[in-house]
Amino acid sequence: MRILVTGGAGFLGSHLCERLLEAGHEVVCLDNLFTGRKENIYPLLENPRFEFIRHDVIDPFKVEVDQIYNLACPASPVHYQYNPIKTAKTSVMGAINCLGLAKRVRARVFQASTSEVYGDPLVHPQKEDYRGHVNPIGPRACYDEGKRCAETLFFDYHRENKVDIRVIRIFNTYGPRMLPDDGRVVSNFIVQALRGQDITVYGDGSQTRSFCFVDDLVEGFVRFMGQTETVGPMNLGNPSEFTILELAEKVIELTASNSKIVRKPLPMDDPKQRQPDISLARKVLGWEPKVPLEEGLTRTIDYFRGRV
Ligand code: NAD
Ligand code: UDP
Repeated sequence: MRILVTGGAGFLGSHLCERLLEAGHEVVCLDNLFTGRKENIYPLLENPRFEFIRHDVIDPFKVEVDQIYNLACPASPVHYQYNPIKTAKTSVMGAINCLGLAKRVRARVFQASTSEVYGDPLVHPQKEDYRGHVNPIGPRACYDEGKRCAETLFFDYHRENKVDIRVIRIFNTYGPRMLPDDGRVVSNFIVQALRGQDITVYGDGSQTRSFCFVDDLVEGFVRFMGQTETVGPMNLGNPSEFTILELAEKVIELTASNSKIVRKPLPMDDPKQRQPDISLARKVLGWEPKVPLEEGLTRTIDYFRGRV
């Protein structure tokens, strides 16, 4: 197949492009390089089945493809809050442009949605039928509400125009090719530990997240896109839940760092807990994460060593 990956030069996108090429597909990677890097896709450029287009998903695009994965959107709070209006536009206009293209060329289209649609959840763990607890006017809203609106558009194009959609809600994922200055917790802690800098725990560190290694997630993407039982939304993530303080201690241990843990103020609307209920993915895809936190962190630490 010929497959378009928007945001294909980013962290998740570059792993997905690689995986699709390995499966023998042609891949068109479309990215404006806001948080993505050419370095992530350098090795792929040598492959005649790979093509890179520098383009912004806010503007319409035309390519003849069989499938579209829409991943274009900054994902870390630091980057999506840098220009919040642009973030909302990227989610909403990007979804409209991908859906319009999918409708024209009759392609199956995948939306990288997020656990952020659940906001600061009052139900734990989060199941797909939970409607969420999002502050629509806070600093995270440009991302959360942008992604919620994108889901709305996906389901309206599906109902109104019979577009063949797939919507995945991704929970915190980490691994090689995250940006060192990304601001997300796993890359921040690893980079700080390797540099011998203080490890910055926001708040008291009792808030929880459930961390999925990138290879597991990409396997879930491909399985989800290949099945016809459900269009989603479907949670994908690792249900093993840790406090942020536990993560900091684990990173210090694995890097054998002398870094000290320091406290910084908790950002506004920071979710207190997050854990995916993945029973739907287990049932439909026969999928569950295989890489435990310690192994995934070790592989990520190896990637950052020598780069920071
Ligand atoms: P990332 O920032 O590494 O990747 C996003 C990519 O999109 C980058 O290459 C960036 O340059 C590109 N991009 C941003 N705005 C664009 C625009 N207007 N036009 C074209 N390209 C644009 O982040 P990631 O972690 O790889 O996330 C990929 C997708 O998965 C995002 O949609 C994100 O919301 C979603 N997601 C990720 C996570 C996670 O934990 N990594 C969790 C939930 C959802
Ligand atoms: N966090 C932290 N120190 C950091 C970066 C993040 O304590 O240097 C916390 C952050 O407040 C949040 C959690 O780690 O509670 C996950 O943050 P991240 O930005 O990675 O993801 P998200 O909040 O979007 O799930």
